[in-house]
Amino acid sequence: MQLALVEVQRRIQSRVPLPWIQPDSAWLAAQRHAGRPVVRFKDIPLEWTDFRLTFRQTADILHRFEAIDRAEHTAILAVGRDGNTLEPIVHNWYAATSGADPSDAGNRVPEGAPASLDQVLLLALRPFLMRCAEALMQREDLSGWTHGHCPVCGWEPDFAVITPNADRRLICGRCTAQWVFGSSTCPFCANDDRALVTSFATRDGRYRVYACDVCRRYLKAFDGRNATRSVLIAVDTIATLPLDAAAMQKGYVG
Ligand SMILES: [Zn+2]
Ligand SMILES: [Zn+2]
Repeated sequence: MQLALVEVQRRIQSRVPLPWIQPDSAWLAAQRHAGRPVVRFKDIPLEWTDFRLTFRQTADILHRFEAIDRAEHTAILAVGRDGNTLEPIVHNWYAATSGADPSDAGNRVPEGAPASLDQVLLLALRPFLMRCAEALMQREDLSGWTHGHCPVCGWEPDFAVITPNADRRLICGRCTAQWVFGSSTCPFCANDDRALVTSFATRDGRYRVYACDVCRRYLKAFDGRNATRSVLIAVDTIATLPLDAAAMQKGYVG
């Protein structure tokens, strides 16, 4: 299922134009200071025909692999078909989950929406947000970001990479932007007491888990210090599924 989803995202991503996002430095500094990401909804290069296609194909894949049942699938497709319904839903969901513009925040999903709508929106919006991350991550201004959430889209990290010079870079679970974050600080609750962060590696040393004993969340990382390749999100998140099982067995949550 992961591979089918990656395939859809890759196909759409290649069609999405690189957005022209040129915020001025003062505005960027103000966003950074407030812990707000830089991509507002209007900055996303959303082409609605492409988005609706991704949305529908994502729902189809989740249904095909039995991640959502028939009733959910039908309800999701109905949302996707009606442009007047879908557009404000996507807008509100992004505004509520990014925090990029506090004056713009509404409900994350409408009342009575299908339970899996959140997941379908996350996956369908990803190729568009990845292009925003590509356009922005070159900028020096983002390097001073010190928060646990994403500087581009405000989402949480869901993977990390340890660089050859031992920095830990977090990787956003929505747009895949990367940013440096203290390796002994929990990105979810900012706990930085080393005694309360449990860390363990796989036997081959390729992967590592950081688990927080305050909020009980954990984060997996690819250890690039002795690696012969760089991190490959699609491959590494699947290769580390046994680590999720190990972390959950110890009582941590993803
Ligand atoms: Zn992000
Ligand atoms: Zn924590």
